[in-house]
Amino acid sequence: MNVGTPLRWAAGEDVAGVVVRELLPRVDQIAAGEYPETVLHALGTAGALAAGDLDPWAYERKRLAVIRAVARCCLATAFLVWCHTAAVVYVRTGASPWLRSELLPALEQGAVLAGTGLSNPVKAAAGLERIRLRATPAGDGFRISGTLAAVSNLGPGHWFGVVAETGAGRVAALLPADAPGVELVPRDRFVALNGTATYAVRLVDVAVPARWVLARDADAWLARIRPGFLLSQVGLGLGLADDVAAHVGRRVGRRPGLAWWAARLERARRRLETALAGVAAAPPATEAEWRRLVHLRRAAGRLAFHAAEAVAVADGSAGYQSGSYASRRAREAWFVAILTPSLTQLEVERGRQGGRG
Ligand SMILES: Cc1cc2nc3c(=O)[nH]c(=O)nc-3n(C[C@H](O)[C@H](O)[C@H](O)COP(=O)(O)OP(=O)(O)OC[C@H]3O[C@@H](n4cnc5c(N)ncnc54)[C@H](O)[C@@H]3O)c2cc1C
Repeated sequence: MNVGTPLRWAAGEDVAGVVVRELLPRVDQIAAGEYPETVLHALGTAGALAAGDLDPWAYERKRLAVIRAVARCCLATAFLVWCHTAAVVYVRTGASPWLRSELLPALEQGAVLAGTGLSNPVKAAAGLERIRLRATPAGDGFRISGTLAAVSNLGPGHWFGVVAETGAGRVAALLPADAPGVELVPRDRFVALNGTATYAVRLVDVAVPARWVLARDADAWLARIRPGFLLSQVGLGLGLADDVAAHVGRRVGRRPGLAWWAARLERARRRLETALAGVAAAPPATEAEWRRLVHLRRAAGRLAFHAAEAVAVADGSAGYQSGSYASRRAREAWFVAILTPSLTQLEVERGRQGGRG
């Protein structure tokens, strides 16, 4: 594994160190479906999940860097970091002082873990599907019902973000996974990422008090958090490609025919790196900057596919064995393409924006 430049955060321990000590020895078990909860706790203790006093965009850059460092080793764990830190963003940007004072410190330390069920509202905001959850006003809050197809990083004591339709608009809330009326149905027959503690989530008339409400105008709130949602996901494709590029590069000398594949991956990786430097400098303020961010997220999905192709040709029949490095990386890469916003969704978005960014 290529751990790259160590990333040091305020807590004094570097992310790459946690990855090498805690994550690397467990990669095969995680690929077999084990949920790396202890790794998430260790990253939290190291300060890797914390926003502290960073401004919102600086935290998105930190998320990207941590996710990239973790994805160099294991995409499932990197995705869990993305889910958890998305929930940190929800609480930081949300309207509940109670969540900020009572839950946020534990989330930032990784002592309490959280996920996000926002694929559905993000697709709904793009006009691709209807909102799956229904909220009815009740007391100072709501009662929410409906089903989400997949929410990762869940378990007893965990929390997760949702958006529900009231009929007069949409509300966002953070719910405990063990609140009365929340049913978790395990989903562990994926081709990869089975270690992500992913569940179909059924909400049956779940009572949501005002202190769990993140936004009473969820559309406006989603528009605020969406740039960071995309930027941080770039770390998934980039980290995976960093490691595959190093893996393929070590084999080029012995297999000259590999040079073309290695060079293509390296070119795509460098192009993305250059584009990232521009986009990450400041949150998008104009249509043109938003287009560049959409283009960047799309490039990260395509880069993951380039990595999958390069590792497949590099490792030949050894890579074609189930349980091999190449097989794991290729299946992980597929996920970067279908994670919301998927490559097809980004294509629709590019079409609306009038072509290339
Ligand atoms: C292992 C795993 C973990 C996941 N964890 C989470 C999670 O924690 N939280 C969460 O919210 N979601 C999660 N998801 C869902 C994920 O983010 C994607 O939303 C989902 O995989 C996209 O596929 P779909 O089943 O919605 O595809 P479909 O709706 O069947 O669509 C197929 C493809 O077309 C795209 N598409 C659909 N309609 C249109 C259209 N009209 N125009 C253009 N493109 C369109 C979709 O985005 C998708 O790429 C998870 C999925 C997996 C596999």
